[in-house]
Amino acid sequence: MSLETLQDLLVHELKDLYSAERQLVQALPKMAKAASSDELRAAFENHLAQTEEQVTRIETIMESFGESPKGQKCAGMEGLVEEGKNFLKEDADTDVMDAGIIAAAQKVEHYEIASYGTVCEYARILGHTEALQLLEQTLEEEKSADELLSKLAEGGINALAERDGNEDSEDDEEVKGEAKATTRRNAPKPRARSRATKARN
Ligand code: FE
Ligand code: FE
Ligand code: ZN
Repeated sequence: MSLETLQDLLVHELKDLYSAERQLVQALPKMAKAASSDELRAAFENHLAQTEEQVTRIETIMESFGESPKGQKCAGMEGLVEEGKNFLKEDADTDVMDAGIIAAAQKVEHYEIASYGTVCEYARILGHTEALQLLEQTLEEEKSADELLSKLAEGGINALAERDGNEDSEDDEEVKGEAKATTRRNAPKPRARSRATKARN
C-alpha cells in the first residue's frame, strides 16, 4: 500500500494501533495475574475492559473509512510486551515485582498516548469529527491509566519495594499504611529514618 495522503497515513497508524490494542488484550490478564497488590490488579482488570472497547472503536472508525483494521503488526508494542513478559520471569520479591510491572505498563501507556495523540491530530485536520471523538475518548483513558499507575507507585508500591532490600518483609503490612500516609509529604523513607534512629541511639 502506497501512502500518498494524510488519510493514508491515518489508516496506516490506526492499523498499527489496532494491532497494539489486540496485543494488549492478550497481555493485560498476564500482568493482572502477576500483580500482588489488589489495587494494581484491579487497575489492570479495569484497563483490560477499556482496551476491549478501544479495539471496537478502531473497528468502527475503519469501517466508516471503508478500510480493514487488520494487516499490520505493531512492532513497538510487540517489543514492549516482550520486555514486560521477560520481566515477569525474573525472580523478584513481590513488591519489587509490582513496581517493575508498573514500570513496564507505563511504557505501554506512553507508547499509546503518543500514538493516539498523533491520530487525533490527523483526524482533526482531516475533519473526521466522529472518529476524532472516539480517538479522544481512548486517549483520555490511556492518560488516566497512566496517572493511576503513577499514583499506585507513588502511593506505596515503590516505597514497599525500596524497603524490601533492607528489611525482612514480615512488617510489610505496617509499611503499607505508613507509605500511603507519608509518601506525598516527602517524609523520609523507612530506611533513611531507621538509620537516623540508629544513629541517635
Ligand atoms: Fe489502549
Ligand atoms: Fe506501533
Ligand atoms: Zn492503555
